[in-house]
Amino acid sequence: IETNAEDNRIFKLVLLGDSGVGKTSLFLRFANDAFNDIFLPTVGVDFWDTAGQERFRSLISSHYRNAKGAFVVFDVTNLKSFENVTRWLQEINENSNNDLKTLLVGNKCDLTLKRVVDHAQAKNLADSLNILYVETSAKNTTNVELAFMSLISEIMPNQ
Ligand code: GDP
Ligand code: MG
Repeated sequence: IETNAEDNRIFKLVLLGDSGVGKTSLFLRFANDAFNDIFLPTVGVDFWDTAGQERFRSLISSHYRNAKGAFVVFDVTNLKSFENVTRWLQEINENSNNDLKTLLVGNKCDLTLKRVVDHAQAKNLADSLNILYVETSAKNTTNVELAFMSLISEIMPNQ
């Protein structure tokens, strides 16, 4: 993905997390619902969705090249995906420079009956890592725009 080095309003975000947590769904929800938002015409965002390449770890460092922000996504109904958050964060540390802004996302919060990771548990992890935590549903749109705007605000605090 090309980024325009002369326009610092255009930047790349990466969506990380286990396969099936909803990365593609979050991106599509945001892109389809929110690109008409009054805020966004002034901001260009390049996305890198790993598109099912989660298993091809040797390719991964290229995903981080020039990225300004990362969503680490887990599925609140999938404990393993939450446990793997620390692995994704470790990978960020190994592959990116320090100014990559990171936000923890607990997706599928619409599935209240199947939930196995509660809000406090995830918030505690995020607090201990000094990153924000947002719970989303790509299905019913809950907090999807908030998650993207929160990360964008960390990258561009003066906008
Ligand atoms: P990815 O592998 O991380 O890109 O995950 P996908 O976006 O392909 O989603 C995996 C599955 O989870 C699909 O069947 C989606 O429809 C479903 N899914 C994604 N987000 C949500 C959500 O917020 N709520 C529910 N109930 N299902 C979701
Ligand atoms: Mg995907």
